[in-house]
Amino acid sequence: MSFPLAPGATIGILGAGQLGRMLAMAAARLGFDVIVLTPEENSPAARVCAGAIVAAYDDLSALDVLADRCGVITCEFENVPARALAHLEQRGALVAPCSRAFALAQDRLAEKTFLNEAGLPTVRFAQVDGEKDLDAALELLGAPLLLKTRRGGYDGKGQVWVRSAPEAASAFEAIGRRPAIAETPADFVRECAVIAARGRDGQTALYPLTRSEHEGGILRRTIAPAEAAPATLAAAAQAAERLLVALDYVGVLGLELFERADGSLLVNEFAPRVHNTGHWTLDGCAVDQFEQHVRAVAGWPLGPTDALARVEMLNLLGEDVDRWEVLASDPSARLWLYGKADARDGRKMGHVNLVSPLAL
Ligand code: AMP
Repeated sequence: MSFPLAPGATIGILGAGQLGRMLAMAAARLGFDVIVLTPEENSPAARVCAGAIVAAYDDLSALDVLADRCGVITCEFENVPARALAHLEQRGALVAPCSRAFALAQDRLAEKTFLNEAGLPTVRFAQVDGEKDLDAALELLGAPLLLKTRRGGYDGKGQVWVRSAPEAASAFEAIGRRPAIAETPADFVRECAVIAARGRDGQTALYPLTRSEHEGGILRRTIAPAEAAPATLAAAAQAAERLLVALDYVGVLGLELFERADGSLLVNEFAPRVHNTGHWTLDGCAVDQFEQHVRAVAGWPLGPTDALARVEMLNLLGEDVDRWEVLASDPSARLWLYGKADARDGRKMGHVNLVSPLAL
């Protein structure tokens, strides 16, 4: 297979939730077919794809079928088993982003260590494999500390604050006695994010900085573009560029940042995939993050990333989605629904982009 991938080729996606769905829709627009591999029957992405393979992510023969049918394979979630990506790479399939980005993003300790080595500042942290390590971390870094499982946590799950040494045992218990990382509190005034892309030729493109608002650990609202001091904007762009290069990255990634009172930034984490904080680009940019990712992995030139509008993105969680009819009658609202049947509490059912002109 040679790049650029021509329209008519097939792109494989591991995972088939809403991110896969929007990736598949963007790929279709450029003339590609998409096949997803997912353990889930009737997934949000499968219903807009050319095909779906329903299998476990580490089902090697299913991965072989996907590899045989696709020119390039990408992922829509970061917790793809390393074994699956390694298998695909070993059999010569073209996988983008590469497995290293996933290995790092899946382990908070490896991720923060890598970020610091690449010159990206984070909160201070310590490895915690048992209560004794937590005592030592409290001694070294002080209290309080945020104890997070190294693997598997998302949307604020698997995290607990430890306010003093006597709480150490119950905190470690609360995260299931799993390998963990203890972090100092990020003294942030707001949370921000950058969606960044890098093509196969090393070309990079960054979307404007956005502001993120979380509730209960889940992203609730994105404001794009964010207002920030020029030095903060420059620092965010520099951090994103550095990360793309340090990972030798191909595709779109989401970089989550903490902004402190003095405008300086700390990196919280990165996700080696399209990201919820980039959903605003669907209605705020000429080329959105999904098309950008498809362009990057297919070896196409990257598209423009300037904001053409101000966008407030609201996640529709659980029963929020029942407001679809009201939202559909708002002329400033662009509605994106993920086709999920069961509106469980807190489940991401869709999002709405409220679009207004950029301030002059
Ligand atoms: P995470 O799962 O690491 O992205 O964390 C989810 C949310 O928890 C973040 O968006 C922050 O609001 C908060 N958070 C994470 N790490 C810290 C920290 N070290 N200090 C303060 N708040 C944090």
